[in-house]
Amino acid sequence: MKVGIFPGSFDPFTKGHESIVRTALDFFDEIIIAIGVNSKKTAYFSTDKRIAHIKSLFKERVSVVDYEGLTVDLCRKYSSPIILRGLRDSKDFEYEKSIAFMNRDLANFETIFLLTDIHFSHINSSIVREIHANGGDISSFVTNANILV
Ligand code: ADP
Repeated sequence: MKVGIFPGSFDPFTKGHESIVRTALDFFDEIIIAIGVNSKKTAYFSTDKRIAHIKSLFKERVSVVDYEGLTVDLCRKYSSPIILRGLRDSKDFEYEKSIAFMNRDLANFETIFLLTDIHFSHINSSIVREIHANGGDISSFVTNANILV
């Protein structure tokens, strides 16, 4: 059974994140979407809303959890050695590369990168939050956005 862990803030989970998971389901038996929670930082959308929203998007083979602490500890908990991340551009790659090397050093866990769907490569959670905070419609960027609001 091949299980991949997709960690992130997902504040909110956008169509870009969604397309990464849908593509990954071709290669993994199960994907665990793991919402990283930082007790010292308040997220824009609550953890409960983010969990309910992501759960509404997938019928099977995907589960959603929240976690605090190191992603490698989460991987140990679920006995999954594969971390999944998405790439939009070379800036993402440079940042993701450092994290992936450190996770390899920390615990020998590998990271698999999937390139975003070209239609969603401009979507960025922090801009989506900004639009929402200013009363804009985020439904072009987030499927089932009504569940978040
Ligand atoms: P983090 O705070 O861990 O970077 P994010 O929720 O911003 O969490 O992103 C989680 C993962 O999804 C990261 O690997 C990021 O590069 C990727 N990602 C973010 N936006 C997109 C997008 N539009 N298309 C594909 N991947 C994306």
